[in-house]
Amino acid sequence: MSRPVQYNIYGQTDVKMVKEGPEGYSGEGFMATTLDKVVGLARQNSIWPLPFATSCCGIEFMATMGSHYDLARFGAERVGFSPRQCDLLMVMGTIAKKMGPVVKQVYLQMAEPRWVLAMGACASSGGIFDTYSVLQGIDQIIPVDVYIPGCPPRPEAVLDGFMKIQELVGKESLRRRNGDRYKELMTSYGIL
Ligand code: SF4
Repeated sequence: MSRPVQYNIYGQTDVKMVKEGPEGYSGEGFMATTLDKVVGLARQNSIWPLPFATSCCGIEFMATMGSHYDLARFGAERVGFSPRQCDLLMVMGTIAKKMGPVVKQVYLQMAEPRWVLAMGACASSGGIFDTYSVLQGIDQIIPVDVYIPGCPPRPEAVLDGFMKIQELVGKESLRRRNGDRYKELMTSYGIL
């Protein structure tokens, strides 16, 4: 028996192909909203992650990128290893103190606006490695936006953390990065 194959999914009425628009006022022939919301919508659905994977959590991230969980569904399939082009630093794995300056260097090379996600217990807090050589959380050297608990976190948790980042990105004001609080935060990390 042959299996029915639908080649043209645009013909299906129950398939949502379009992301909902930002909040605003609309009427016949017009739609009004704020620039912040439009930019937020575009940014949150086109994040370019930079995976900084040092150990086992990186393997879990590979599963998240695979066809079953498929991070591409969130507009983030363009994983890059060039800090200049990426806007989300995903740190996954144990970060030794010796590697701290490298993580910071990568963060500094990313252009604003940039976000940071600490995946797993090691990146978030040092995890089980409470030793002299391991950094007890990457927030000792760079600001973190979202922490994903677990050792390792399952791909579902990674997706959940990623969606939290998307929420932040979507709601972020264009001016926050120029604000005093943000500058204070950067100064506290020795980043001017
Ligand atoms: S949190 Fe667990 S799984 Fe992730 S890098 Fe650390 S030890 Fe490995």
